[in-house]
Amino acid sequence: MENKTTKKKSKKKEKETRLFKRIITEVKKWREILHLSEWRLEIKLDDLSNIDNDDGTKYLAITQMIVPYRKATIIFDVNIQPTEIEIIVIHELIHLIIHPIVFEINDSAADRITQAEKNHLGNLEETAVSRITSIIMSQEKGDDKR
Ligand SMILES: [Zn+2]
Repeated sequence: MENKTTKKKSKKKEKETRLFKRIITEVKKWREILHLSEWRLEIKLDDLSNIDNDDGTKYLAITQMIVPYRKATIIFDVNIQPTEIEIIVIHELIHLIIHPIVFEINDSAADRITQAEKNHLGNLEETAVSRITSIIMSQEKGDDKR
């Protein structure tokens, strides 16, 4: 019984190690393509299944940024599928391009900006990031066909 549990655990660990390696490979690839070498990145894998988004959806990844220092930690959910890695990596890295704009606005207008306006800016950022990501993804697919 104990042996089985240990085996199951190490299988899970193996799977996570493989997933992590694939994430790192995609991050390296897209970091170069998107010219994000000025950012110091830390990549983590964690169980995000218990954290709810505002709209009740689950997080596939969370990016924490310290914009003035160009430092970011990207935490990927352990339950993401290998086929989802690339789109999630691109999405999170595009945030590193777009978010500094939002950060500057929030920072310079901190005393004049309402929470509703902050939320609106956040939604605009999310829409921009998602659109750019899907444009890049459709280009990628087109490249594969050639
Ligand atoms: Zn996002």
